[in-house]
Amino acid sequence: MPGVEFERTATRLWVDADLTEGAMVEIGRERAHFLRDVLRLAPGTLVSLFNGRDGEWIARIETLAKSEAVLRPERRTRSQTPSPNLWLLFAPIKGGRVDSVAEKATELGVSVLWPILTRRTEARRVNLDRLRANAIEAAEQCERLDVPEVREPIELDRLPADLGNGHVLFVCAEAGGAIPIAEAVQASAGRPVAFLVGPEGGFAPEEFAWLRRRPDVVPVGLGPRVLRADTATFAALSCFQAVAGDWTRSGLDNRPRDH
Ligand code: SAM
Repeated sequence: MPGVEFERTATRLWVDADLTEGAMVEIGRERAHFLRDVLRLAPGTLVSLFNGRDGEWIARIETLAKSEAVLRPERRTRSQTPSPNLWLLFAPIKGGRVDSVAEKATELGVSVLWPILTRRTEARRVNLDRLRANAIEAAEQCERLDVPEVREPIELDRLPADLGNGHVLFVCAEAGGAIPIAEAVQASAGRPVAFLVGPEGGFAPEEFAWLRRRPDVVPVGLGPRVLRADTATFAALSCFQAVAGDWTRSGLDNRPRDH
């Protein structure tokens, strides 16, 4: 089948509002400023909107002032499709790298971003608004139809005994009898998957022993080199998507569309 494409516009925005034909969508100062002063758009311009529930819509800018804009959805171009039930639990790392984790994990299809504070976590203060902003921007760019949920950080030992939905928890471990990741992912047989990546200094031995006692944990290895935490994150997610995730099914051309 030739590439199954859908109608696109130059600008794609995530909004919180419901999206139905003709139901006006108001956006606030920050986004209005972006459309008006950064992109220099004008009323009448068409943009694409998505909210994680109602698919993707072409909308027309009705009004565009300094402090707000009003957009009118005209037609839906993509029906809503669920993102994989793929969670990333990660020890926050310093500086811009954690922003990159939020951005790349969003592009790689993660549905939940959950900062986990471990003994050796140095960056214990996590700017969740910044993580959410990075996730939204990445979702807009990569044409996802939703934005990952960013959860409040918790201490590792407060992690619920059961993540729910029968998740397997792949703990990225550079030692300790880890299974090569492709083998572990293939054996996960379609169960919802969560990955846990440690901090710059790795998991403390007693943390790793605690994790290994959990029935949902499978330690996975990412080869013979010690990877930076962000590298390990991107490598693990990419391997999962390639072996058992939505990279097995399609490139861009199999995405459902409406028109
Ligand atoms: N443990 C080393 C230390 O103490 O410096 C390095 C930790 S590494 C920088 C951060 C995290 O990346 C680790 O906790 C682990 O989750 C993951 N990681 C790094 N290399 C890995 C590998 N070869 N296999 C599996 N996980 C790895």
